[in-house]
Amino acid sequence: MPPVSLRCKECQTEYALDARYVCERCFGPLEVAYAPANPADAGELKRRIQAGPHSIWRYGDFLPTDGRGYPLPAGWTPLIRADRLARELGLAEVWVKNDAANPTHSFKDRVVSVALARARELGFETIACASTGNLANAVAAHAAAAGLESYVFIPSDLEEQKILATGVYGTNLVAVGGNYDDVNRLCTELSGDHDWAFVNINMRPYYAEGSKTLAFEIAEQLNFELPDRIVAPIASGSLFTKIARGFTEWIDAGLLEGELPIFNGAQADGCSPVAQAFAAGLDFCRPVKPDTIAKSLAIGNPADGPYALDLARASGGRIDSVSDEEIRAGIRLLAQTTGVFTETAGGVTTAVLAKLAARGEIGPDERVVIVITGEGLKTLDAVRGTFSAWQIDASVAAFEAAAAERAGAVGPVGVSARTGAVH
Ligand SMILES: *Cc1c(COP(=O)(O)O)cnc(C)c1O
Ligand SMILES: [Zn+2]
Repeated sequence: MPPVSLRCKECQTEYALDARYVCERCFGPLEVAYAPANPADAGELKRRIQAGPHSIWRYGDFLPTDGRGYPLPAGWTPLIRADRLARELGLAEVWVKNDAANPTHSFKDRVVSVALARARELGFETIACASTGNLANAVAAHAAAAGLESYVFIPSDLEEQKILATGVYGTNLVAVGGNYDDVNRLCTELSGDHDWAFVNINMRPYYAEGSKTLAFEIAEQLNFELPDRIVAPIASGSLFTKIARGFTEWIDAGLLEGELPIFNGAQADGCSPVAQAFAAGLDFCRPVKPDTIAKSLAIGNPADGPYALDLARASGGRIDSVSDEEIRAGIRLLAQTTGVFTETAGGVTTAVLAKLAARGEIGPDERVVIVITGEGLKTLDAVRGTFSAWQIDASVAAFEAAAAERAGAVGPVGVSARTGAVH
């Protein structure tokens, strides 16, 4: 399915596969268009995928570039069956796609890989981005690996862990006084004056393709079967809509049978333009001013909001939002039932799963996949103060005394089942 053009999502006008993102006729967004797949080739395609590298590049047939020689491979992250989480929520089958297991610990490694690979083919020497945090990490790291110059623009109130985990790669790190939407506007202006590949602006059509690899991996890891439901976070709505696109492409190519899963989108109450539009029955989003601990999802004016609304409605899903307290609880629930420590965005996703389960919206035999997009070590403040460590002297007696105190000091505490010793 070689890529053939950039095509306007609204009026279908076609453009060459260069660095552009908006239709000159109608200002609609551009997308990579491919030659149609022939289902008769599905067997050969599947063999090629299975013989490919353990990274997103095994899906090169469905991407605008094959990434040959790409220096920092992303993807092929674990899909974990989460029976303890399912039981806790009264669900049948839940899987966790853990995209924290990427080179810079978020799903942004996928999108940056495709944008950067295409930028190199187009001859760019500098790459750049407007970031809510994880994109900054990924652009800085992938530029370093490829030996390209990079400029990373972030809101100045970003989590310290994300700032430190970006600067270390030796990028030009620009902290902007303003929120993400201000940073994005600045970068859109700069992209007119500088011959740079802004991965999520002039390279956005290629960037967006990277998210399809999440769908490909989930399907392949389920032995080329579709899940019944996907729960995924929404910032701009690109990830959410492109997961669906990935499944659709594989159904069309004859690699998967069945229907598109139900799509549930997850946002934070403090930045929920898409969830609000869903609830109001609108097909567009009213911009909001973000105020939430889920900074990686804090886009007040989501570019793909209308397409996310379409997808949720057409697939029989919904878009929900959760409070900062529910996000913190979601992080702990996932950690304590699966051993996966996610950042605030994953707390949003897990909390929305819990909300859907509590409302009884998930059927008794559904196979649900939740998409965990980032790493808990990058947003440590979200769990600060939620537990306390035992403070003891370095003696057995001190430990046993503390254990007794914790046990509530009722009855014959400290009886060891193994030794019968009483303390
Ligand atoms: C960027 C990001 C998302 C969502 O991105 P979209 O703009 O909706 O594609 C989700 N989770 C994390 C952790 C992110 O960094
Ligand atoms: Zn158009």
